[in-house]
Amino acid sequence: MTAYLDHSATTPLRPEALEAMLDVLTERFGNPSGVHGVARAARAAVDEAREVMAECLGAKPGEIVFTSGGTESDNLAVLGVQARRGGRVVCCGAEHNAVLESVRAAGGKVVATSAAGTIDLDALADALDGDVTVVSVMLANNEVGAITDLDAVAELVRDRAPDAVLHTDAVQAFQWLDVAERARPAQMIAVSAHKFGGPKGAGVLVAREGVPLAPILHGGGHERGRRSGTHNVAAIVGMAAAAAATVKTRDDTVARVRGMRDRLADGLIAAIPDTVETIPRSAKVAGSCHVRFEGVESEALLMLLDEAGVCASAGSACASGAIEPSHVLTAMGLTRPQARASLRLSLGWASTDDDIDVALKVLPDAVSRLRDG
Ligand code: PLP
Repeated sequence: MTAYLDHSATTPLRPEALEAMLDVLTERFGNPSGVHGVARAARAAVDEAREVMAECLGAKPGEIVFTSGGTESDNLAVLGVQARRGGRVVCCGAEHNAVLESVRAAGGKVVATSAAGTIDLDALADALDGDVTVVSVMLANNEVGAITDLDAVAELVRDRAPDAVLHTDAVQAFQWLDVAERARPAQMIAVSAHKFGGPKGAGVLVAREGVPLAPILHGGGHERGRRSGTHNVAAIVGMAAAAAATVKTRDDTVARVRGMRDRLADGLIAAIPDTVETIPRSAKVAGSCHVRFEGVESEALLMLLDEAGVCASAGSACASGAIEPSHVLTAMGLTRPQARASLRLSLGWASTDDDIDVALKVLPDAVSRLRDG
């Protein structure tokens, strides 16, 4: 049996999404920009999906911009507003690269991260002034799962950079949190379908009315001129079906997954000496189990886990031939050895008790082998 504990990387497709997509792929295959009946049927599918996404995200249908996923939504938010308004863009050092690299490309400022994995509010306050046009702060972190209090961020932005647009990357939040409520203070919100049981290659940027947004993709002027390109109708429809299923079952999923996550984390701590949880469970999303086994290289551990059928992810990545510790963990103040010993086990809507049983059986042995080795 494979224990899939990498839902933060991607999730299996929800059956509701598959069913909705098959209908579009086989029957409603038209180009929604056309005028004839087949095109209009596809257009209706996109319109319905827009309404669903708007409802799920606490936005108006006209504020939904369909994109190719989280990366594009983040790029559009940061670069699209800066292209219109100029000025400086600011983000937190724990952001996903989709935001971080957009901010760097725009010559912006990256501010410090707290030890808890969220933006350092004092550092943010120092970075804000009347020249800042975009502030990008994620709602939930993709590595450690830390949840940011966006109300506190929004208050600072209102005080110090009142003309700035607040963008939140909610890609890792939507499956766990009521984004419609939590992201209310943000003028832009990014989500990605494949993190909540939808297909890869579909996402949304919410750009609230009045947000000045220049397109980064030029062409036929789709999405009211905000994002050109023929709609990926099947993916959009699959995303909406997955989003609706996520919202409908979210409270139950959170309770069920939190129980499994706690059993996993408690079991690891009990069975493996020197296991450290990166941040307190109360400060993060329900599916996140982020730990380190002191002295163990997680890259080597991942290989043993893979052999034993456990899919996880490490606190470091191979960049240009060398293993580099994660920028999130180093921004939080972990040492390189601590970052390199970190392991991300992420649960999701499809997780089962069997996954946890397998992980609890395999991990203690694998860590012992590396420590003894
Ligand atoms: N933002 C966050 C927080 C993510 O975790 C990811 C993907 O891992 C992205 C953005 C990028 O999303 P996509 O894979 O849809 O491009």
